[in-house]
Amino acid sequence: MVERSESDSRSLLRRLRDTLATPGGGQDRLDRITHLIADSMRTQVCSIYLFRDPETLELCATEGLNPESVHKTRMRLGEGLVGRVARTGQPVNTGNAPAEPGFRYMPETGEEIYSSFLGVPIQRVGEKLGVLVVQSREAREFSEDEVYGLEVVAMVLAEMTELGAFIGDNNNGIGAAHRFPVMFRGTTGQEGAAEGHVWLHEPRVVVTNPVGDDPDAELKRLEEAIQALQAQIEDMLEGSAAMDKEHRQVLETYKMLAHSRGWFRRMSEDIGLGLSAEAAVEKEQSTARARLEQSPDLYLRERLNDLDDLSNRLLRLLTGQGKDTGAELPPDPVLIARNIGPAELLEYGRALKGVVLEEGSVGSHAAIVARALSIPLVIHAERVIAEALNGDPILVDGDQGVVHLRPEETVAAAFRDKIAMQAEAQKRYADLREQPATDQSGQTISLMMNAGLMADLPSLKGSGADGVGLFRTELQFLTRTRVPRRSELAALYKRVMDAAGDKRVHFRTLDIGSDKVLPYMKPQDEPNPAMGWRAIRVGLDKPGVLRMQLQALIRGAEGRPLSVMFPFIATPSEFHAARASLLREMEREAALGRTVPCDLKIGAMLETPSLGFAPESFFKACDFISIGGNDLKQFFFAADRENERVRRRYDTLDAAFLTFIEQIIARCAANNTALSFCGEDAGRPVEALALAALGLPTLSMRPASIGPVKHLIRRANLRELREIIVNARDAGAQSLRPAVTAYLANL
Ligand code: PEP
Ligand code: MG
Repeated sequence: MVERSESDSRSLLRRLRDTLATPGGGQDRLDRITHLIADSMRTQVCSIYLFRDPETLELCATEGLNPESVHKTRMRLGEGLVGRVARTGQPVNTGNAPAEPGFRYMPETGEEIYSSFLGVPIQRVGEKLGVLVVQSREAREFSEDEVYGLEVVAMVLAEMTELGAFIGDNNNGIGAAHRFPVMFRGTTGQEGAAEGHVWLHEPRVVVTNPVGDDPDAELKRLEEAIQALQAQIEDMLEGSAAMDKEHRQVLETYKMLAHSRGWFRRMSEDIGLGLSAEAAVEKEQSTARARLEQSPDLYLRERLNDLDDLSNRLLRLLTGQGKDTGAELPPDPVLIARNIGPAELLEYGRALKGVVLEEGSVGSHAAIVARALSIPLVIHAERVIAEALNGDPILVDGDQGVVHLRPEETVAAAFRDKIAMQAEAQKRYADLREQPATDQSGQTISLMMNAGLMADLPSLKGSGADGVGLFRTELQFLTRTRVPRRSELAALYKRVMDAAGDKRVHFRTLDIGSDKVLPYMKPQDEPNPAMGWRAIRVGLDKPGVLRMQLQALIRGAEGRPLSVMFPFIATPSEFHAARASLLREMEREAALGRTVPCDLKIGAMLETPSLGFAPESFFKACDFISIGGNDLKQFFFAADRENERVRRRYDTLDAAFLTFIEQIIARCAANNTALSFCGEDAGRPVEALALAALGLPTLSMRPASIGPVKHLIRRANLRELREIIVNARDAGAQSLRPAVTAYLANL
């Protein structure tokens, strides 16, 4: 067995770096590298195979094999020993290569005479570039040190490839990772199509110096960075007293990892072999990733995210690169992130053309913000972060839940046609703008829009909405770092009403809690925040902010009519208390000599089933009721609106749910209480039609839905549809969807 020392490895890395720093074509460099490695490892053969496309590897340089086979010998992913290394991301080390399962004989390379084979992946985090192989005649397994040493060399090669060292005019297609089209299939978060360029929410740290000259100095840097990392985690843990259990558990895992001796030892060894501290961190990240990705254990695979996050933090500490890398936001950014909160998304605002998330959920408020901003959103696009680079061209198909990264020109052209067709459809809807949503039987449904940003208001006119059925006031609170001042809010509400002109705006008071966490609010440690201290519950328990907001609304109205509704009312007493508080503020403002609204309408949002069964007096006391279908449905079926596993199990057109809605409609009608429906279902044409057929007089939805919903209502006969729904229900159907869609098919 040939012993290799640390100094052998360091000197090889230095020679490699020097070779890569000298001018010359990519091929020339690769040839010199294979020669250097074979020489240093004392093997007869060293070869570099790189991905030609995601499924094919190509021999790109060799020392020892037949030079004629370079750029000719190719193999599929998984084929032969090289293909096995590429597929698994794990080394293959054997003293008797021809006896290995899957061994592929390649006569053109003259390979049969080499008995021992060691192949290691050339990879960066989440990104496979190729395979580095050494072979020798004598039948022996390579030692652990040799395997390790070759992995370190492969790490340096990966960095160099990434830097474009091999990619020049004369590149023969080398260094092709991150250059191929990739398609991701996710889930629709918000419909619509967008074309743009990638903007990573948390950009990858770039390692520019994979080789370390002074191992002691590198080790010291690593030690200091790890200490800083440990301190960061301690700080996070200290601030986490009020966090939910799961969040704390993640931090505890981080703490364990950050103190892991094994992790530190492996990175120190990499440094000893000649890597810089940051390259050592990245090597460990890649190796662990390749190992964990193969694991059948779901828990372990989920730990990948923790490991990535921790490694990235360490890399940021070492390189001093913050999230702000100085890269410029492209003019048509498509945001890519693991997940994002509503406040962060609002910060980007309408600048974004599209959003693609690896996680996320349809019912989340980030999705609602995307909808409010009319930004196409695809969620559950697995691995998109590892594949995408800042600035890559990207197409987001929100309708199909599909994302095309670096698309082929033919795909891009077809996509542009689709965007043009959608624009055409919007134009057709625009022609309906001034027309009422009157069906074939002469009934007119009032269509309103949901809003939450000042920027939404221009859509009011363009969309043809009769008013704003739901103005989500929390969005202003979410975008700031402190509680907004009363005067700021009053000025904003005034502007909203100015923009709406004579159309009514229904302001909903602050609805926070659940997934809408204000950055300046102490997080609550609640086992189930959706059913916890949220919305009006917070408003009544801590009346300061609610009072301030009510005053701002009264002042912003400047004597004009005002409509206010309270979110998440579960009992009449909550409504009465909130209403009394508003009336008190009206009296106070009047007593101070201020102008108060000439007409005040006070409503409740019906979002919990309990309220549907409230006594008659409650319905009489409300000027209007707005059904918050998103929350109502989640509590009706006991299915978390943010949990993709259960969210889709239950249909809005389920007979039980529609019967419940019908009862609410009847109770409001009997008491002369105005009624609207403002959940997301109001903006889905089929659902909207069914709700209208059941007698819902007003639907409030995102502006882009008004055209399609109006179009459908005008073609339909709501009286006929109602009969069809009732008959299907009487016949015992659990879902009324088949009956509704059959009716639509014959329209
Ligand atoms: C709802 O629950 O339907 C609703 C409109 O409120 P939000 O989605 O903001 O909770
Ligand atoms: Mg709600």
